[in-house]
Amino acid sequence: MARLYDSRKRILVTGGSGFIGSHLIDRLLELGHEVICADNLFTGTKRNVDHLHNHPRFEFLRHDVTFPLYLEVDEIYNLACPASPVHYQYDPVQTTKTSVHGAINMLGLAKRLKCKIFQASTSEVYGDPVVHPQTEEYWGNVNPIGPRSCYDEGKRCAETLFFDYHRQHGLQIKVARIFNTYGPRMHPADGRVVSNFIMQALQGEPITLYGDGSQTRSFCFVDDMVEAFIRLMATGDEVTGPVNLGNPGEFTIRELAEKVVRQTGSKSQIVYRDIPQDDPKQRCPDITRAKALLGWQPAIPLDQGLGWTIDYFSNLIADRKSARP
Ligand code: NAD
Ligand code: UDP
Repeated sequence: MARLYDSRKRILVTGGSGFIGSHLIDRLLELGHEVICADNLFTGTKRNVDHLHNHPRFEFLRHDVTFPLYLEVDEIYNLACPASPVHYQYDPVQTTKTSVHGAINMLGLAKRLKCKIFQASTSEVYGDPVVHPQTEEYWGNVNPIGPRSCYDEGKRCAETLFFDYHRQHGLQIKVARIFNTYGPRMHPADGRVVSNFIMQALQGEPITLYGDGSQTRSFCFVDDMVEAFIRLMATGDEVTGPVNLGNPGEFTIRELAEKVVRQTGSKSQIVYRDIPQDDPKQRCPDITRAKALLGWQPAIPLDQGLGWTIDYFSNLIADRKSARP
């Protein structure tokens, strides 16, 4: 427990230099809290938290969560883990270690501090789902030995650890199953579909559609997601999760490609590439539980959120061009 003099909290965000983590930190600082960001900068960048450099209530710590961490904080948000398939498959052993050893280290810290701990779990715990839309009761359809397993099984094992720490040690846990989230500060080269399509469209490059584009995803704008995190963390001890967090609007990847082309006014053509192994065919959250427990549902439609994300990547490209000698 941190010993602060007022109602503000000291909050640890692991993976805070990444896409979602940096938005979460902005929001926590706006709420008046102190924030420690622990990140090894594997997929995150200092640029995402550059604007906080001189903020009196912000501290950056270069730290890998697979190693223990000794701090005094009131709450922990555990987000550290590469999220894009390209990045988490780059060093799959490290991905599993980050989820599993990272969870053990952060849970150990929370146990000593007797503080609430939030886990950024994922819709990937459902694998290639045969139940649609996915409810939290569904146990999933996950390949334990495929190229996505380091991420899927790592996150599943982390959930197991969270619930065992809860049952065995009475820890206050908050497990969120996050569905595809997008917005400004996604890494432009991380290979995820929204950033790929927008970067390709803005640069007049071919839009790479994997498979026939009939697979579906549900896309949640990052501000909506962060709002859900804050609400989930604020719930009482009786709420442990897992809670699905995502936007139930479901689109085929072909529809997404067409939207991006339309909204950017790009002349890019769609080209077809092989579908990656074990790529889930359909994904859509049932958010009944989140609505009931958190009074939350996403407010930002895909077209609007895509517009803001396109603006972000346009500016990024313009900045890069002007920085060239
Ligand atoms: P991201 O890659 O932008 O951020 C992850 C952050 O974790 C990065 O800053 C990275 O440097 C850091 N990190 C990775 N390994 C680490 C380690 N061993 N020690 C310390 N830091 C480490 O991804 P994101 O989209 O912001 O995802 C954040 C979290 O949300 C992840 O846990 C991810 O699994 C989860 N999630 C995200 C989505 C999504 O659509 N964005 C969906 C489901 C779950
Ligand atoms: N995808 C695609 N083209 C790309 C990148 C991704 O068609 O350039 C597809 C991918 O095969 C998947 C979907 O878009 O069906 C979402 O992929 P992403 O990597 O964003 O996340 P996932 O939900 O698969 O973890």
